[in-house]
Amino acid sequence: MTYFAAVYGAGLAGCAIANKLLDAGKSVLLIDPSLEINQDMTYRSQVADSSRSGHASSHIVDPVPVLSTSTASDTEPDNPGLSASVRQTATPAALVNPAMGRYAKLSWEAEACYHAVLNRAHELTRFSGSENLFAETGVLRPAINTDLAENFRGALDAHDWPEGWITWIDADAAASRVPYLGKQHGALLLNKGFTVYLDRYLKTYHRYLEHKGAELQKEVVSYRRLSGHIADISEQANNKKVTKRELLDDNDRWKSAAGSAHTSSDSVRDSHATYSSPAHTSSDSDSGKAGKITRSDNASSDTPRFQVGEHLVAHIIVAAGSATLDFPEFEGVPLHRVKGQTATFEADHDLPWDTAISAMGYILREGKRGIIAGSTYEHNQNNTIPTEQAYQQIIHKLFSIVPELSGRIVKTGQWAGIRVTTPNKLPVIGAPAAHLGFHMYTALGSKGLLFSEHVAGILAGHILHDIPLPHDLDVNRFL
Ligand SMILES: Cc1cc2nc3c(=O)[nH]c(=O)nc-3n(C[C@H](O)[C@H](O)[C@H](O)COP(=O)(O)OP(=O)(O)OC[C@H]3O[C@@H](n4cnc5c(N)ncnc54)[C@H](O)[C@@H]3O)c2cc1C
Repeated sequence: MTYFAAVYGAGLAGCAIANKLLDAGKSVLLIDPSLEINQDMTYRSQVADSSRSGHASSHIVDPVPVLSTSTASDTEPDNPGLSASVRQTATPAALVNPAMGRYAKLSWEAEACYHAVLNRAHELTRFSGSENLFAETGVLRPAINTDLAENFRGALDAHDWPEGWITWIDADAAASRVPYLGKQHGALLLNKGFTVYLDRYLKTYHRYLEHKGAELQKEVVSYRRLSGHIADISEQANNKKVTKRELLDDNDRWKSAAGSAHTSSDSVRDSHATYSSPAHTSSDSDSGKAGKITRSDNASSDTPRFQVGEHLVAHIIVAAGSATLDFPEFEGVPLHRVKGQTATFEADHDLPWDTAISAMGYILREGKRGIIAGSTYEHNQNNTIPTEQAYQQIIHKLFSIVPELSGRIVKTGQWAGIRVTTPNKLPVIGAPAAHLGFHMYTALGSKGLLFSEHVAGILAGHILHDIPLPHDLDVNRFL
């Protein structure tokens, strides 16, 4: 088969770019070793089920008991590199929160990002007929000390918040919204944040893409540039240990092969394109449509450049989360891994609030009694093993923000994953100049939901129509 693009990774980034290309009428091969897990039973439901089978979950207990620490990752050795990442599935719930940090700064291109992901959430809901993919909970940011109260009040004027997005409410109003809150000095209320039940969301996204014509493939197959040498990533992704040295060796082989084996037509293809198109598209709806084409390389964007398994593809897009760092083509891009953990709980009674809370991490609601709390920030860690230390941090924060939960919840699961970030905390997209047609889409950091759809629109505009990438996102700014 011939595909326009092979996308490695079916997380938020991979799904979003696959969807944009399908919308433009392009064929897509979506590859992710975790796809089968997503289609059958989510990681989270496995943990919850195993917890319930051995223990009653409705006891009132204090401190919070560990009903089950058994997870898919527990038996995994501390294996740096790709093998840790391929088992990763999404955190149980995540927040779309455009207010960043202790000054509640408006996040990058917040309006476009927000509308793009909200539209997608509605579309997936319509497709699945399920109402439980996301909840428009808003976000409450309680000021837990007077300095924060001052910062938050200042944020109303300091940043260019769209009309109606945030308001400041006093301590009584905050307490009536979330009755279990501890001491606070008022709160910022974001009307525009929402909670996404990420494992269901992604599972639905996969079905949706398949329905739109994407070919979904669990087996991670090797790729090679036509007239180059195979870069064997299947070994890595099939959980065999690959050392950094082996990856570098592979990289060297790749580079020298590419250097010596270029045919004349390949070097025409790989020559740098020059562009004179207008700025990138910025809305969800217009991606892939606007822009003027002035390529200086002679290859059509549909010309196959790669072999992927037994298929021919014009573009490879690596959206493999933290595993993206292990693709030798992206060596030199300063990507950074930050491990994070969340825990899930069930209360012994119906909880009297729905609003998501963002303070020292987040506290999200699900159903009548569910709580998802997180997350930790653990730098330079490359494993997805949940730890007791992180769990203690999570419950410490949880009980300092909502002390009334103490003794009234039981733990139902714990999850760990890896975020990828860059120095400017923005995603990285595009193809290194030396690897035309070999794109990356990663570094969504802790704003994966917010960025995913809008940035995919920008990348799609670039791939389909040669629209230049914004400098702040372009991988070539690092190379
Ligand atoms: C604890 C925690 C809490 C978070 N909370 C939030 C939040 O509240 N809001 C928010 O917006 N974001 C949050 N994030 C961040 C968000 O989860 C990430 O930004 C987002 O998941 C990144 O998406 P991605 O598609 O780039 O990567 P990933 O989600 O890591 O997906 C990568 C995919 O690639 C697959 N893969 C790996 N190797 C290969 C390979 N060789 N070939 C093919 N496929 C491969 C993996 O199986 C995986 O499915 C949180 C992250 C963590 C860790």
